[in-house]
Amino acid sequence: MTLAASFALIVALFATSASARDVVIHAGTLLDGVTDSPRREVSILIRDDRITAVEPGFVKPAGSEIIDLSGQTVMPGFIDCHVHIASKLPSRMNATENWLTHSALDRAFDGAVFVRAMLQQGFTSARDVGGGDDTVAVRDAINAGKIAGPRLWVSLEPLGPTAGHGDPRNGLAPGLSHPGWSDGIVNTPEEARLRVREHRGRRADLIKIMPSGGMASTGDDPRQQLMTDDEMRVAVETAHSLGLKVAAHIYPANAIEAAVRAGVDSVEHGSFATAQTFALMKEHGTYLVPTLTVFEIYYVAARDHPELLTPGTAPKELANDLLPKKNFPLAVKSGVKIAYGTDIGEGDHTMEFGLMIAGGLTPMKALSAATRNAADLIGAADRIGSVQPGRYADLVATAGDPLADPAQFAHVDFVMKGGVIYRQDGHPTVAAVQ
Ligand SMILES: [Zn+2]
Repeated sequence: MTLAASFALIVALFATSASARDVVIHAGTLLDGVTDSPRREVSILIRDDRITAVEPGFVKPAGSEIIDLSGQTVMPGFIDCHVHIASKLPSRMNATENWLTHSALDRAFDGAVFVRAMLQQGFTSARDVGGGDDTVAVRDAINAGKIAGPRLWVSLEPLGPTAGHGDPRNGLAPGLSHPGWSDGIVNTPEEARLRVREHRGRRADLIKIMPSGGMASTGDDPRQQLMTDDEMRVAVETAHSLGLKVAAHIYPANAIEAAVRAGVDSVEHGSFATAQTFALMKEHGTYLVPTLTVFEIYYVAARDHPELLTPGTAPKELANDLLPKKNFPLAVKSGVKIAYGTDIGEGDHTMEFGLMIAGGLTPMKALSAATRNAADLIGAADRIGSVQPGRYADLVATAGDPLADPAQFAHVDFVMKGGVIYRQDGHPTVAAVQ
């Protein structure tokens, strides 16, 4: 390196440190996601996108910009572990019509709209468990600063058998086909291994499997195990060897137990679990992501507007959607690890707080489900889910105390992600409209 080049490098390094942005947030109350005790009157020191310190009292270091949240409750940004970013509420068109009339490009644009709303609600991170190349593109656009949205961890098409819950041809005329419709189909352990590797190649962050039937799909039964134990075992083994976690959509107790033994990291829904199932999950450290929100929404749709659901699925929803809420107190009692998840894209992602609290979680435990537990399940607890040095400056605040009044979780009026403010005093900021 020449002397001039070294000099240029030194100048560049100084320029970088000189342009660092120092921000201090004065938090009236801080729920830090680390302990369960609220802290009063603390300062959160931020340099660029990271938290550098949390100090008692309201400090004002020279050269720092002060953000006064001394009348607010500050929390780590919320994390939704079960979203489908392009998924629409059952309010406009039949789900099958939507699926058949929209391309992956259309879904990416829908996703871009819904992730912006998610961030405005206080969700600074989310895990998409069942998308495609569109979700990968939205994740990358957010990371590149092209659009506003939560940090995303995405799976691609859920893995499952022909005619299972993850088979997009389910319920359609058998002659119809599409090049992408087989991207999640798995009928042997070897196919499971191949699909996991393919998804890794297409830049998935995690793997989603469909060991049981589901509700919102025609023709499959949510009470049946549809993947074999061997297919699950090989999918998990291959995913884990590549550093990918595995989320499993499952309802019936026997299938949950088989998936837990196969080593999945989380059971999504888990609606028909028994005390014995939860005990086994607890023993294996498997997370439950209950997704009470989606059942609430789809039960009402099935009752009032069955024409907005996939044809023929309203009876399944009506027969099964009330069970998860009834079963949730059993999960709470068991002590199984719970992470926050809604199973929606469009819509109010804060609904799950109220549903979990109504089911027996304390507001503090509900917040933990949406912060440190969610971060742990994703495998990113060293970056998100708590307010402590080294973590991203992903913060939200409410005017009231959500521990005393859980409705406050739905009234976030300050959102910061990576040190950038996306909402302040309840209004989107310029940064949110990129
Ligand atoms: Zn889902």
